Amino acid sequence: MKLDYLFVGAHPDDCEIFAGGTILNLKNQGARVGILDLTRGEAGTFGDSQTRKQELDKASQLLGLDYRETLDFPDGRLEDTAQARDRVITILRATKPEVIFTFPSICRHPDHEAVHYIVRKSAYLCGLKPRQSETTNQQRRESMDQQRRETTDQQRRPCGLVEFIEFYPVEKPSFVIDVTDYYEQKKALVKCFSTQVLTDEKAEVSAAHTTFIRSSAFWDNFEGRLKWFGSLIGVRYGEGFMTAQPLRVENPISHFKKRFR
Ligand SMILES: [Zn+2]
Repeated sequence: MKLDYLFVGAHPDDCEIFAGGTILNLKNQGARVGILDLTRGEAGTFGDSQTRKQELDKASQLLGLDYRETLDFPDGRLEDTAQARDRVITILRATKPEVIFTFPSICRHPDHEAVHYIVRKSAYLCGLKPRQSETTNQQRRESMDQQRRETTDQQRRPCGLVEFIEFYPVEKPSFVIDVTDYYEQKKALVKCFSTQVLTDEKAEVSAAHTTFIRSSAFWDNFEGRLKWFGSLIGVRYGEGFMTAQPLRVENPISHFKKRFR
């Protein structure tokens, strides 16, 4: 399997909340897109791993994903370990994404921070030779042949790593993707996770049955963020992202002309 984009989150609703409009946009452009969740989300205040799996399947169908895998690392106790990196490296070698989207290094949720380090290190390490213990003799012979065919290790690494903007504020995004045409679809997508968010955006919920994302304040935040990111590029709704490296611009005039339409 060969993916163009792989989105990696900690919990089954992360990629939909922070990049759902972008995934819909990329799929509409014909890209091959996958999502990897590192936990089943079983530690959430509401919902268990079974109900969260049903919600995830519904959201995956709406997205029309080419690949989705949910690993079973412990929700709430996700750590950047060699074991976690080895699992992710195996998946990166199998799915060969060109660009990975994942969390930044500073987040509100500790699991989200752990995902950042696991993914960033794995994206680099997957360009190194597989360790002997990871392969059988047959695989070793095939892997040596394959390595000869590939000219450099660099070519097997994803060419870009992009960070979501989580709940902590950032000075400004590195780039914004126009998701105006996908706003309602993104809302429907996030509402698939009905144990986590309110499907009635204005519903009043008692303190015993609420969390930040299971409140009307979440929907205010949802709309406000997309409107603010959109306003930065002159569109109605956008999703903002960060990159550690500056983006290369080929033609400054066409780049800036696109800013307001
Ligand atoms: Zn999460």
